[in-house]
Amino acid sequence: MYKGQSFYNGITFKECVTDYALATGCNLKQYRYDRDRIGFRCVGAKGKCQWKVYAASLHNESMWRITKYTNTHVCVPNGECEMFKVPVIARLFLDKIREEPDYYMPLKMEQTIMEKWKISATRGQCQAARRKALAWIASEYDTQFERLRDYGAEILEANQGSVVEIDTVKNDAGHDVFKRFYVCFDVLRKTWKKTCRPLIGVDGCFLKEKIKGQLLVALGRDADNAIYPIAWSVVQVENTDNWSWFVNRLKIDLELGDGDGYIMVSDRQKGLIKAVELELPKIEHRKCVRHIYGNLKKTHPDKKQLKKLLWDLAWSYNTRDYEERLERIHAYDSKVYEDVMKTKPKTWCRAFHKIDSYCEDVENNSVESFNNTINKVREKPFVAMLETVRRLAMVRIGGFRFKREEEVVGSGFKCYPVINCFHTGLRWVSIGFTNKTV
Ligand SMILES: [Zn+2]
Repeated sequence: MYKGQSFYNGITFKECVTDYALATGCNLKQYRYDRDRIGFRCVGAKGKCQWKVYAASLHNESMWRITKYTNTHVCVPNGECEMFKVPVIARLFLDKIREEPDYYMPLKMEQTIMEKWKISATRGQCQAARRKALAWIASEYDTQFERLRDYGAEILEANQGSVVEIDTVKNDAGHDVFKRFYVCFDVLRKTWKKTCRPLIGVDGCFLKEKIKGQLLVALGRDADNAIYPIAWSVVQVENTDNWSWFVNRLKIDLELGDGDGYIMVSDRQKGLIKAVELELPKIEHRKCVRHIYGNLKKTHPDKKQLKKLLWDLAWSYNTRDYEERLERIHAYDSKVYEDVMKTKPKTWCRAFHKIDSYCEDVENNSVESFNNTINKVREKPFVAMLETVRRLAMVRIGGFRFKREEEVVGSGFKCYPVINCFHTGLRWVSIGFTNKTV
């Protein structure tokens, strides 16, 4: 905190002071509660402490600003904190309670507060805070869907040319109820189209708690084979209808035509396979060997060689390798062989990928590793979750760029032509399967 620091509103100022109190353990107390003025002071050291912060909403601007700040303490934190009242505790535990309502009972909250921030809260305060948080969560579901349209409008205003789709259905009472949401940022689709590999990985993951539904994501690969988020969507269930809708949106927004020249990598979600056949009949639809292995392992749990044999098969470089490795599986176990054949191995072996497909991957792990990064946001309220996914996508794209360029500088390579494609707008060129050593 510093004098002159500005805030969007009084709440963000209060949150900033809360963070300060939690980090320092000082006994802060609010002494000014006006609509346009808020002040906190430290009441430690029996009132001798001088620390004080004061912010006001300024009439000539829409912001709040810290106008007075005395940053000196003579106190020694002792676990007391007067500003640590029920609403503050409720806010701190909101996400945790949403995720694990049965785990964060009042006693657990009390212990967590002590362990984490060395501040003592009473059992009564924790009980009240938990009740408050649960009430917020209950009302949040409705308000979040109300806010979804605002969020969509905000995206479109700030990102011209982007696509936002919000589908609703009428319930028995005649009210609009959420059905599905889709967003594709213009800059992402244009950059993907111009500079990334013609490959799209798609997958879905479950959302937690109140928002019962699925997050569907479409991810590309940039010239360095790093993940490039393209579009995402929230649907109530993963079925053919919703997958068709999602794939159809991608087809229009990414101008995929009949899919000729593009590759889709996915797990074997039945609804998705049908949707892709329908919307993009000419796309090369690769299956993910990891999912195939996962399914086979369930039927053959004691076959220790299965993993190696299957991966060898997936990585077959040509049809001769493929046949030889398939024969190895046959020799290993005829039951396993039969089940492998049922998965149509030609759809997930490298030997049968089109040569100009620009990417040798046989598994969909880029999508899943993105799902792992967004795992943490899946329990957030709806709009907050979508916004966090957007930010993670930004960090992902921006962060990787930076890191990779640094790596290249230190690697002694004279040039690394694919690295700059984002800046120059060059489309990635096929360099066979040796792209790691350009
Ligand atoms: Zn103090």
